[in-house]
Amino acid sequence: MSSNSGKVVCVTGASGYIASWIVKFLLQRGYTVRATVRDPSNPEKVDHLLKLDGAKERLHLFKADLLQEGSFDSVVEGCDGVFHTASPVHFAAKDPQSQLIDPAVKGTLNVFKSCAKSTSVKRVVLTSSVAAVLYNGRPRTPEVVVDETWFSDPNILRGLERWYAFSKTVAEDAARNFFSEYDIKLVIINPAMCVGPLLQPELNASSASILNLINGSPTFPNTTFGWINVKDVANAHVQAYEIASASGRYCLAERVAHFSEIAKILRDMYPTLQISDKCEDDEPFMPTFQVSKEKAKSLGIEFIPLEVSLRETVESLKEKKFVDF
Ligand code: NAP
Repeated sequence: MSSNSGKVVCVTGASGYIASWIVKFLLQRGYTVRATVRDPSNPEKVDHLLKLDGAKERLHLFKADLLQEGSFDSVVEGCDGVFHTASPVHFAAKDPQSQLIDPAVKGTLNVFKSCAKSTSVKRVVLTSSVAAVLYNGRPRTPEVVVDETWFSDPNILRGLERWYAFSKTVAEDAARNFFSEYDIKLVIINPAMCVGPLLQPELNASSASILNLINGSPTFPNTTFGWINVKDVANAHVQAYEIASASGRYCLAERVAHFSEIAKILRDMYPTLQISDKCEDDEPFMPTFQVSKEKAKSLGIEFIPLEVSLRETVESLKEKKFVDF
């Protein structure tokens, strides 16, 4: 029997790309997992979770919505740890307030209030993003090393109308001091753009950015992102819960690369695919920068190489029939 058997933990938004991997690793490690989903009757949302090793014995599905107050009370009562991963990921939202900001901010406070009310929760791991790190007005160039001391400025993001990044920044700000009066520790994970295999049948936003490239998009975006494998991200969440000394924020990026580099790696790897070598505009390429790995290494993160992550993404998209070649 694993030393974790008997320990009960909750994962919010469990059917999502990152959360599904967190659930898989927690089950592998012997935990009993309470997984929240908005619609447990939808097989697209739950079948892949119910098939995981250990699910029959130790996975329990709960219906919960971020915007419904009290929705998480009964789920987190009895849990030792809570992984709050649910939050909408849309890079182009028509109504940012209702589609992104409310579920991110009110949802986080809702989940955290339930944790604070509980008699059992000792640690909460929040899935934030490098989006809550990068935008502080300081220039980013190849020599600059971004680390956990950087905090995005919501006013800058509002000005740029970067509403997803705004929602993550404001949600993390609201989260950071929430438990100061409680005996609950908060650890925050700030992943870059996630790639790697999909467990869920639906396409998530970060995998869609790779699908677009391999599906014949005529141009690639003039954008530079940090990139990280979803398995490293899920593992970081589990380690952030298990390692007693873990605290504060953890940035996660294996490499920072412009889409031109992503397109080149994919072209070299899959020469039969028509992957565009044309940028969406004639502006200079958005510069790269560095993201510090030092703190994440203390969680034992392996940093799966970007090439491996991209190959895993494409093979997974192929297996799930999002692309046919
Ligand atoms: P995803 O696959 O789209 O998952 C998002 C999850 O949030 C879904 O399970 C969704 O539930 C849930 N959700 C959205 N609105 C909700 C609501 N009102 N009530 C309850 N649940 C709601 O996206 P993901 O990439 O795994 O992202 C998960 C987390 O990681 C998010 O917090 C995101 O900001 C963060 N993140 C992602 C990346 C990335 O590149 N993928 C990078 C950094 C951080 P339904 O299934 O019911 O829709």
